[in-house]
Amino acid sequence: MRLDEKTDRAFDENNYCQACTLPICDDIIYSCIQCDFILHKECAQLPRKKHQVTHPHSLSLQVGHQGCALFECKACLRSSNGFAYLCDEEDYEYMLDVCCASIAEPLDHRCHQHPLFLTFEPRSKQICSVCHKSRGHRLNCGECGFVACFGCATLPNKLRYKHDEHVLLFSYEEEVNGQYFCEVCEKEANPKNGVYMCHDCNVILHIKCLLGKDVNIMHGVVIEYPEVDVSILLNDRLSRNICKCCDKLCKHKIVYEVSDFEICSLKCLEFCCSIFYYVCLMFIFSFSMFYS
Ligand SMILES: [Zn+2]
Ligand SMILES: [Zn+2]
Ligand SMILES: [Zn+2]
Ligand SMILES: [Zn+2]
Ligand SMILES: [Zn+2]
Ligand SMILES: [Zn+2]
Ligand SMILES: [Zn+2]
Ligand SMILES: [Zn+2]
Repeated sequence: MRLDEKTDRAFDENNYCQACTLPICDDIIYSCIQCDFILHKECAQLPRKKHQVTHPHSLSLQVGHQGCALFECKACLRSSNGFAYLCDEEDYEYMLDVCCASIAEPLDHRCHQHPLFLTFEPRSKQICSVCHKSRGHRLNCGECGFVACFGCATLPNKLRYKHDEHVLLFSYEEEVNGQYFCEVCEKEANPKNGVYMCHDCNVILHIKCLLGKDVNIMHGVVIEYPEVDVSILLNDRLSRNICKCCDKLCKHKIVYEVSDFEICSLKCLEFCCSIFYYVCLMFIFSFSMFYS
């Protein structure tokens, strides 16, 4: 691995960190000389073992699967194919992605002026002030009503967009004046929901339009999904395909290819594969009934 400290490198959508799965921005990185394996400098120095506020046992870093297996992070409930921290106790299948594992209390988050603390009721219906959902673990402000879910608290501070030469910054505002429109989908983009912004060009993008719907999924890999191999590809072809599952245009940043079919999201993939699995089971069942 070679240390690359030249942070003004050209932006390449295919470069992302294999540990945290986030795209490479103007970060200091380690890159492999023989293949496209890249790690952020901080991600290359992740501790082998760690304790995290969401879980009582020690966790160990898992680096082996290199993009080809999916797991669900128990803090943000998002799927990831990056590095993971796994609980050391055999009976617990507790896994965290490396971004959520790095959250420590009190959290000083750039989009809020007060420190944040973990809510110890994961089942509470508290709504995240950024994404307005109540999903996974959440952090609370001790001084006001601000709430951030782990998914929003771990969004990268800066990202690049292929049609902008500058770095885009994450912005969140509680009070918004005026209307903004997303550069990608042309729909309204409200900084109340968190957005990425280039302040030089006045360009604004939805989080989903820049990072994709499945934020922690790296493309350019084949994953072993139960029963099938799934290729994860950047959705950059000129003609967009129709999702085999929901029958809508594949409009997200990445697509999932199973045999010759394209599937638009992880949600559709899960649905599609469970049906496929069910049909297979029914087939085997009726087959065995027939011959018994
Ligand atoms: Zn990283
Ligand atoms: Zn545990
Ligand atoms: Zn997570
Ligand atoms: Zn959120
Ligand atoms: Zn506050
Ligand atoms: Zn958009
Ligand atoms: Zn710009
Ligand atoms: Zn779909």
